[in-house]
Amino acid sequence: MENCIFCKIIRKEMPADLKYESDTVVVFPDINPSADIHLLIVPKKHIGGIKDLNESHGLLLAEIFQVASKLAAENNLENGLYRVAVNAGKAQHVPHLHFHLLGGQWKKMI
Ligand code: AMP
Repeated sequence: MENCIFCKIIRKEMPADLKYESDTVVVFPDINPSADIHLLIVPKKHIGGIKDLNESHGLLLAEIFQVASKLAAENNLENGLYRVAVNAGKAQHVPHLHFHLLGGQWKKMI
């Protein structure tokens, strides 16, 4: 998707501090963090949102939650409060599926 912000980050046309990258997923910090740790886990393939998911995305979703769990451990969140969240409908502002990993002190609602 030519004008999608997250596609531009994935194509390395826009800067982002990548914390993790695989063939299918990238992770970078949210530019406007809602918690001490606020990472975005983003599939490389442009999927608009949860309404566009189907059974063919099962492995991708498993990888996303594995990556979330690994990054939670790396950021010492495992024994504290942390959350993996997806916005949808009018709560979703970037129309490229992404999962928020939030932990530590919350500053505001996502
Ligand atoms: P959502 O409301 O779930 O669509 O969340 C989109 C998130 O993307 C927001 O928390 C924004 O702060 C974040 N965001 C938007 N542009 C960028 C960017 N260029 N780099 C990192 N995070 C971004």
